[in-house]
Parts: sequence; C-alpha cells; structure tokens
Amino acid sequence: MSPGREDGPEFDHPTEKCGVVGVSLAERDAAFPTYYALYALQHRGQESAGIVTHDGFQQHQHVEMGLVGDAFDESDIEELVGSAGIGHVRYPTAGSVDKSCAQPFSVSFKGGALGLSHNGNLVNADEIRDDLASSGHAFTSDGDTEVIAHDLARNLLDEDLVAAVETTMHRVHGSYSLTIMHDDTVLGVRDPLGNRPLVLGELDDGYVLASESAAIDTLGGELVRDVRPGELVVLHEDGEGYDSHQLVEAENTANCFFEYVYFARPDSVIDDELVYEVRRELGRQLWAENGVDTDVVMPVPDSGRAFASGYAEAGQNDGATVEFAEGLMKNRYVGRTFIMPTQEAREQAVRLKLNPIKSTVEGRTVTVIDDSIVRGTTSSQLVDLLYEAGAEEVHVRIGAPPISAPCYMGIDMATRDELIAADKTASEIADEIGADSLSYLSLDAVTTAIGRSQADLCAGCVTGEYPYDIPGEATDREIERPAEAPADD
Ligand code: SF4
Repeated sequence: MSPGREDGPEFDHPTEKCGVVGVSLAERDAAFPTYYALYALQHRGQESAGIVTHDGFQQHQHVEMGLVGDAFDESDIEELVGSAGIGHVRYPTAGSVDKSCAQPFSVSFKGGALGLSHNGNLVNADEIRDDLASSGHAFTSDGDTEVIAHDLARNLLDEDLVAAVETTMHRVHGSYSLTIMHDDTVLGVRDPLGNRPLVLGELDDGYVLASESAAIDTLGGELVRDVRPGELVVLHEDGEGYDSHQLVEAENTANCFFEYVYFARPDSVIDDELVYEVRRELGRQLWAENGVDTDVVMPVPDSGRAFASGYAEAGQNDGATVEFAEGLMKNRYVGRTFIMPTQEAREQAVRLKLNPIKSTVEGRTVTVIDDSIVRGTTSSQLVDLLYEAGAEEVHVRIGAPPISAPCYMGIDMATRDELIAADKTASEIADEIGADSLSYLSLDAVTTAIGRSQADLCAGCVTGEYPYDIPGEATDREIERPAEAPADD
C-alpha cells in the first residue's frame, strides 16, 4: 500500500486477483454477454478489464485499466465483432500494475490467434519463461499468463488443440483457471487440483465459462456444472454444445476455502453449494464453538452479513437472547482507494467507510462478526468506533481460522510480517484491537460447513501447508512437481 492511500471499503481483507469469462454463441456477437459477465465478476478484480473476440477471420481486442464500466464505451464493444469471446478482470498477482499485464493476453503466431485469461498464480513461471526466452520467445510482460500463452503457442505448432493444452498442463505448476480462445474456439481449463473456481453455463444460443455462476445468472443462463479439476472443456464454435477432456487426474483437489468464506459472491454456487448458505452455516458453527450471548450481534458490512445471520439464528435456537441487527452502515460511495495525507487521517479511515447506528449500540453489549482479519488495523478502529458509540462490551467473532501465512496461489494476503495472526494468539489479538474477546472458527468447522474433507481443500494461509511445491516453504503437501525440462528438448 503506498503512503497516503488506503484500500477501499473491504480493506484489511484478502484480495482476489482475477475473474475470467469465455463465451461461444450461435450467431450473436459475444462481446456484450462477455461485458455483462465481467460486470458480474467485478469484485474479483478492479485494476483492469479486457475482452478479446474472434469473428472467424481475425481477433479483436480491447483491454484497458480501470473498472469494467470505465474500461469500455458502447463503440468499443460494438467493434469487438465475432461470436466467440473471452474476458478478464484483473487485480495484479504476478507481474506489474500496468497495461502490459492487463488481460486477456493475445498473440498471433504461425498456428493462428491465441487469447488467454488467467485466474491463479503459477509457481514455476520463471523457469518456463527462462527456457522459452532461451529458445527465442520474446516476452512483452513479466506476468505468468504470457508464459502459459507462449508455451501453448509453441505446442500448437506440433500438436492438435487438446494435445497442446495437455502438454502445457504437464509443464506448468500452480494454480490456474483459464479461458482460452484459439482462433474462434473457446476453451476452459482448470488446474489439476482445482484451486480456483470455473463453471460452465448454458445460454439459449450458446455456452459460457466463468469464474462464478453469478455471471451465468446475469446472462439469463443455466449453470451446467463446475469445470472439473484437470479438465479441458471445448465449446463448439456453432454454440451448439461442448466437449469434455479429462487431461490430468489428481488424487485430491485443493479448492481455495476462502472462495466460500469471502471471495465468491454469496449468490454464486460452487460445487452445488450456494455460497450464501455456506456462510450462514459457518455462522452457526461459530455460535456452536464460541457463541457469546450479547444484547446484539451485527455484521461488518457487507462481508460479515451471512455469518452474523447464521450466528444469531443458532444463538436464538439455543435460547440466547442475542438480537440480529445492522449496527454499522457502510458508505457505498467510497472508491477503491482514497487519499489520506496524514497518519492521523489514516487511523480514522474506517470512519469514512463505516458509521455506527447509535441506537443499536448505545448501552448494549455487542458482538461484531466478520470473515477474516488480515493486518488487524481495521478491527481496532472498528472496536474503537463501537465503544465511542456507547457499546458496553465489544466481542469480535471471525467466521474462519486465523490467517497466519501468505498465499502463493493468486491472493493478496499480505506478507507474514504483516499478518497479525502470524505470531499472536486470539487473546493477544483481542488485547491489541481492544476487544473484550475474540474467537475464530476452527478449520474442522469450516470443512464441515463446506461439506468437503480437508484433504480436498487448500487452507495454506491458515496452516502454512500448501498444495503446491512452493520454493522456500518447507511444508508443502506431497505433490509431484511437473518435469521442469520442456517435453520437446
Ligand atoms: S492459501 Fe488461502 S487464499 Fe490462497 S488458495 Fe489457499 S486457501 Fe485460498
């Protein structure tokens, strides 16, 4: 974070990095549906937005910094002709914060035109980049998406589309959900552990791939299913269907549990579970493990809302008198970042975003619920705010385990040094933020609420045990890393 600037309304939360879309239609241009789907995925990335289409003869591209609504005007979209398209919203993970890393990445080569949108983070991108550069590939960005695109382009010179994707999947290591366009064929690929989400949907006149099902709903389509880990889905150019190829099988998956907790929209469905319902169940589990019967329970808006309603419901079912109420109002018009010239102003930043409703808080004992604490800065300001509004006690409950380690899979979690839970217990953190008590949810309760075994989830940021082989981290799962030597050398 640069001096004098603060993150936006959801600051002190982990930041999702990207959303991807792929659309193949019978006759209509794909650009407008892709644009609307990107709007539905705006929460997954706000730095840049882009669409690449193909009209059967050539690619058309518009990629711009900024929010979806700012990056395109009507004429930009009308110029994106063709019934095949892919789109991307980005918050940078690997690579710089400038247009050279904005996506979709597109390239024309001897084997046709290629476009690629990536959500995730490769852990062996540098090795592959060095190898490709030494065999003559020129890179225009420092992002890992271009590495995948070059590797795939090279394979496409010798192999058909499915075999080329398979070769690339055996070479790249890390987290990726991709939408790819080779000429006018749109593909979706999910890494063998399925770390980041990707779903397939059906429209009246075609098919769509997207990071979340909410994007399919926005287009009036039907969710078909999640793309499986290690699967390639190829949409037919005529919009009439799709082919599935299971290219890599892995014993376990490593779905990011934070998608359920925070990243995904509550109205999205992941693996047949509505995210909103999972969050309510996390709230119920939170009551079961660490409920405290205060006068009122309130969410940190908007991230804590579903948790707080589940928590209050479970408490009331247990005979507690805790009342669910909105006690904090959010200023919806605070942008993603805003200028805070002095330290004092920065310390007051939360006031710009949240204002307590005095009548809910004054003279009452309060529980405030959120999904995570990253650095702890917002939490202490929030607790202060509630005391100033007249709260008698402030208890904090968090609907996930403490974040104590970084993420290498495409989420901005802050560094270990910055993470408040990296070296402090819950009661030490409660003291630091000035709360009467603080409790987190256990990982067991999270896996119960999600309905998955821990062996099939990534929880690296809370356990320090990663599903990929991370250089410098000692506690990776027993995962075989792909061969580093290129297959054709
Ligand atoms: S480390 Fe945490 S945020 Fe990153 S993929 Fe794993 S669960 Fe998700």
